[in-house]
Amino acid sequence: MKVACLELAGGDRGYYFLDGDRARRFDGPPWDGARLGSIETTWSPADLRAPVRPSKIVCIGRNYAAHAKELGNEVPKEPLLFLKAPSAIVGPGGAVVLPKESERVEHEAELAIVIGRRIKRASKDDVKDAIYGYTCACDVTARDLQKKDGQWSRAKGFDSFCPVGPWIETELDPSNLSVRCAVDGEEKQSGRTSQMIFDIPTLVAYVSAAMTLEAGDLILTGTPEGVGPLAPGNKLTVAIEGIGELSVGVVGST
Ligand code: ZN
Repeated sequence: MKVACLELAGGDRGYYFLDGDRARRFDGPPWDGARLGSIETTWSPADLRAPVRPSKIVCIGRNYAAHAKELGNEVPKEPLLFLKAPSAIVGPGGAVVLPKESERVEHEAELAIVIGRRIKRASKDDVKDAIYGYTCACDVTARDLQKKDGQWSRAKGFDSFCPVGPWIETELDPSNLSVRCAVDGEEKQSGRTSQMIFDIPTLVAYVSAAMTLEAGDLILTGTPEGVGPLAPGNKLTVAIEGIGELSVGVVGST
């Protein structure tokens, strides 16, 4: 099932089940147990908004060996966690804003997990029921500031540094999907989720041992090799097999 946040004419925003060009509205965020109502409408890609408003965005660093290697890093022995600010979320059709503080902002295409219910210290077996679905994300990173600062809150946390969408796919086996990133239509990253060092049950269980995960929270699962710079005017696309394509623009800071 595809679940999207749509903003229809008049500014009315809500969660919808997408069925071709038809959309049926939920009576609230679907991961909170909302039900499908009777309101049905047509929709277009311009109506899509970010499908989640997470209380936190947990990211996994260096979860693909080839990406760890391209940046000269060792493969971690345990999942490497960091946080991205929820204010960094930008939806389909939005734009990454390149901040004037950085001279090198890079794309990192990633499969994102959407949590479906509150969990704390979940076992790997519990995790399956706690995942609502999956979406595409880009862990946009100011690479120069990441190195300069020594920790990553600023480099990963600028407004617009977390494009997410275009919708949540709730019925998906995430274990072997292609994850691709293109800039202006030219493929830059291409990997498969089967190349992850730590698989999804391991990651969610590991994160939940540290912090309570709430319904609607996001976990970004790491990026394959091929990260590279963005420039004003670029079109950035993340495509994940079984989900779809997320596209955003890139603009300079004003
Ligand atoms: Zn990343």
